[in-house]
Amino acid sequence: MRIRAQIGMVLNLDKCIGCHTCSVTCKNVWTTREGVEYAWFNNVETKPGTGYPTDWENQARWKGGWERTKSGKLQPKQGSKWRILSNIFANPSMPEIDDYYEPFDFDYDHLKSAPEMEAFPTARPRSKITGERMEKIEKGPNWEEILGGEFAKRSEDYNFEGIQKEIYGEYENTFMMYLPRLCEHCLNPACASSCPSGAIYKREEDGIVLIDQEKCRGWRMCVSGCPYKKIYYNWSSGKSEKCTLCYPRIESGNPTVCSETCVGRIRYLGVMLYDADKIEDAANMEHEKDLYNAQLGVFLDPNDPVVIETARADGIPEDWIKAAQESPIWKMAMEWKVAFPLHPEYRTLPMVWYIPPLSPIQNAVEAGAIGTDAGMPDVKNLRIPVRYLANMLTAGDEAPVVTALERMLAMRSYMRSKTIEGVIDEGIA
Ligand code: SF4
Ligand code: SF4
Repeated sequence: MRIRAQIGMVLNLDKCIGCHTCSVTCKNVWTTREGVEYAWFNNVETKPGTGYPTDWENQARWKGGWERTKSGKLQPKQGSKWRILSNIFANPSMPEIDDYYEPFDFDYDHLKSAPEMEAFPTARPRSKITGERMEKIEKGPNWEEILGGEFAKRSEDYNFEGIQKEIYGEYENTFMMYLPRLCEHCLNPACASSCPSGAIYKREEDGIVLIDQEKCRGWRMCVSGCPYKKIYYNWSSGKSEKCTLCYPRIESGNPTVCSETCVGRIRYLGVMLYDADKIEDAANMEHEKDLYNAQLGVFLDPNDPVVIETARADGIPEDWIKAAQESPIWKMAMEWKVAFPLHPEYRTLPMVWYIPPLSPIQNAVEAGAIGTDAGMPDVKNLRIPVRYLANMLTAGDEAPVVTALERMLAMRSYMRSKTIEGVIDEGIA
């Protein structure tokens, strides 16, 4: 057993209101420079949707990068160019600027210089690349939300016909949810293993994955290699950049900017202890459905005396062991089992986990799923299909998602019926 400490995050999707405050505050701190206008280390996607960059979950799209074996395992393509690093000049396909959006600014000068006219002049968008005025903005970091009604029509271009038919079904059954995304600071980071310059490293002390800007040579193998597409190439500096999990703030005992500014208070940061010797086996599980459980298996009980002793011997500081014992991540992921990794089938062992949403609650109430006397509520009545959530969070294994939703519904039911001195607490209700 080789114990390491890792900072992780749990996001409670039931509480995300899609306000994008996290994305904007992150951008203001980390990516306001030239070359990274299009970079959103944190972005919030509307799901179901194509996400940012467009269609990032469709791993088959990045030809040369990923493929499914006969048994259904998702793995780097055998013999593909990105595996043969000597063939370095042929970087496999990556998202292009059109998969993000053309950086633009608003033409504020026009407000001052426009000739007299009947209507008040407007500050139209102007491309930062060509300097030309843009008639229409095609895409953005949350394209589905911005285009609203256009989505249903255009989604067919992105192979969403099946989803529309199977999941959307009738109009009244449509659903949506928000998915805030950032770098997963994976236990098995594909970005680091695909970097030919050795510029990407995972910090021993807290597991934060960083890019050494001095060493980066701009090969962009990391952009191809990261299945979450959370590495951004800075076209001005010629180097790749990514979320740093606000390590200067973490080092001084503060939360990340996205966590501190989150309006819905959906983000929990915590420390997990894991067995580094189990990483390889966990990432190489033959069957995808085993991957969620395999990742649970690498975490160690921070209250187990043997673990504590070994952690001390492995150099984990006392305050980190204490933080692991008090970790909300341990409670939500391991004890209560209500939080899940995003796409465990990507095999990078991601460390940003998600509590699935129950929403819309009103619909569940009307369906009798909440507040009934019938005992355990029936999550099948919820609007967001369990299958959809399971495909996103447990590589298709529905049972753990159902258990988590039932626990959340039971807790909600309990809280709603809670009384203070015989009076229903209206605040809670
Ligand atoms: Fe690397 Fe991508 Fe994992 Fe972040 S999410 S550590 S960029 S592989
Ligand atoms: Fe969701 Fe919080 Fe971000 Fe708002 S700030 S979009 S509530 S994660």
